[in-house]
Amino acid sequence: MLTDSERERYSRQILLFGEEGQERLKSSKVFIAGAGGLGCPAAAYLAAAGVGHLVIADCDSVDRTNLNRQILHYESDIGRPKVVSAREKLLSMNPDIRVEPLAVIISDNNASTLVSGCDLVVDALDTFTDRYALNRAAIRNRIPYIHGAVSGFDGHMATIIPGETACLECMVPEAPPRSVFPVVGTTPGLIGVLQAHEAIKQITGQGEPLTNQLVLWDGKASQFTMIRVERDPDCPACGGDSRASGRRREI
Ligand SMILES: [Zn+2]
Repeated sequence: MLTDSERERYSRQILLFGEEGQERLKSSKVFIAGAGGLGCPAAAYLAAAGVGHLVIADCDSVDRTNLNRQILHYESDIGRPKVVSAREKLLSMNPDIRVEPLAVIISDNNASTLVSGCDLVVDALDTFTDRYALNRAAIRNRIPYIHGAVSGFDGHMATIIPGETACLECMVPEAPPRSVFPVVGTTPGLIGVLQAHEAIKQITGQGEPLTNQLVLWDGKASQFTMIRVERDPDCPACGGDSRASGRRREI
């Protein structure tokens, strides 16, 4: 049930999906993996939209090199845990929600337990080995998973519905090498907001999810391209036993 204050706060989006949609957001628990370049904008828009319970997981502390893109962290937060800094800003933005900070390293050992009981997972991590652990945990728990990744001026995102659509390992079967990558803040800003947008659609049941396709952002050309991705029956995460390449075709 929404309060009078919530009806007022969310009035412009209640016009879109009604009080029922807003109540769905309020009763949702979303797991945001990462409080960095993608996690900050994704969490900010999910908090502003009224997702009732955000769990935000990140083991790092704020560093000065983060500040060109990780917009929930300020100069005065340098050295503080990112999840503490992020929680403070999110609650200042919207005191009606719950924000649960988890200063943990996400791995195969804990991912399934961490996401259990959540309605949706936002993948805002920066390494593919951690993403694979999260993807498998989402599949195991049958939780929709919104993937996003960036480098430099470019990024991509996709929505994954376990058991129904191509998963992260169908799309990206080999992890790119781990490295310090260049990035301009607007790239994760754009992709993180798209992830929040897809999450809001998924929770409220609005529109069509971006499943079985990768949305590619070419920031230098300022262009989006859609790539069709098919589920791989041999995917080691969601399919059979042997690893095979994801199949792609331009659409
Ligand atoms: Zn798969």
